[in-house]
Amino acid sequence: MAEEYLYRTAITRLRVEESDRRLLKRTIDQFRDGCQLAVEEGFPRVTEKRTLQSIAYDTVRDETALKSQHAILATHRAAEAIAGVRDRWSEGEKASKPEFTSPTVPYDGRTMTLFDDGSVSLTTVEGRVRPDLILPDDEDGYQYEYLDDERWSVTESSLTARDGEFYLHLGFRRPKTEPTAEDGTVLGVDFGIENIAVTSTARFFSGREANHERDQFKKRRASLQQTGTRSAHRTLQRLSHREERQHRQRLHEIANGVLQEALDHDCSVIALEELTGLHDEIPDANWFDLWAFRRLRAYIEYKATAEGIAVESVDPRDTSKRCSECGHVAGGNRSSRGRFHCDACGSEANADYNAAKNIALKHVRRGPQSSRRTGTRQCALKSGTITANGTFVPM
Ligand SMILES: [Zn+2]
Repeated sequence: MAEEYLYRTAITRLRVEESDRRLLKRTIDQFRDGCQLAVEEGFPRVTEKRTLQSIAYDTVRDETALKSQHAILATHRAAEAIAGVRDRWSEGEKASKPEFTSPTVPYDGRTMTLFDDGSVSLTTVEGRVRPDLILPDDEDGYQYEYLDDERWSVTESSLTARDGEFYLHLGFRRPKTEPTAEDGTVLGVDFGIENIAVTSTARFFSGREANHERDQFKKRRASLQQTGTRSAHRTLQRLSHREERQHRQRLHEIANGVLQEALDHDCSVIALEELTGLHDEIPDANWFDLWAFRRLRAYIEYKATAEGIAVESVDPRDTSKRCSECGHVAGGNRSSRGRFHCDACGSEANADYNAAKNIALKHVRRGPQSSRRTGTRQCALKSGTITANGTFVPM
């Protein structure tokens, strides 16, 4: 069986010398022309890349300035487009001959080389150019996750021109790691308003800044308070790009922090609350918070998959009312000022931390779901792990 890969894309702007801009622009234009020429040769009969390559390659080389590899890729792109039209025909849909308009040219290992000094060499219609990647100054730029990690290797990429700038969409891939979800150590994560996320290992991600920003939103746009998914969706579309990006960035940072916590504690599972029950569990949450939790969850899943860590849901019921020390379930609401106080055993804890431990324990107690695996599970805590029957193992 062919090896399976995970694929990710990192987008970076390029710092292009004035004299090289013309070459890149011309390469993009010529590639577009090359695709169109190949379509004219093959449409509508030829849908096979190799076949179209042998039919159209010479024409593309003769009538454009493309170098051989880009000429080949142009015939392949044309074959894909023709195949797409044929697919739509077979579905009974209407589709006409492909027209290439987008200012994009693909790059692969033969036409592109990434260097450690942050530059990239790209084949053009006349030799190569070597612009620098423009990466975020801070180390938090998500691009570094792939660039600085040897497990990811560069694969099919593309160069795009937009608004007078050049952007490189760097494709990365790495072999898939199968999650070992049935056993191992579980990291519990509680979502909330005061703290956006708290882990069972006592890592707190404060919501203070995000909440402040959200209050600013509210002031500016009173209509945001309306509930309902459709209206929420429409309202989100009206959020300015900057505000939304700020929020996504913050959620990415939290997701990275949660992932790091799972890696630091050798966890093979991250247990999160099911978001469907979350509205009851966090009565203060409005649609905006629920949107943020859904995003955060998606980011955690996305990043966890790349690390071979499974993300599992648990029913959030009682996770904030139960005492993680003795298991007593308190009636009424959780205690005041973010503290959880147990009337049975007297233990006191931060309420969100107590909930995070309960979420992990809930998954641990559920036990393996299949008969294939018989491993034990334990919950990751700040100073060790705890099994379903309460055995504590210090770290
Ligand atoms: Zn208790």
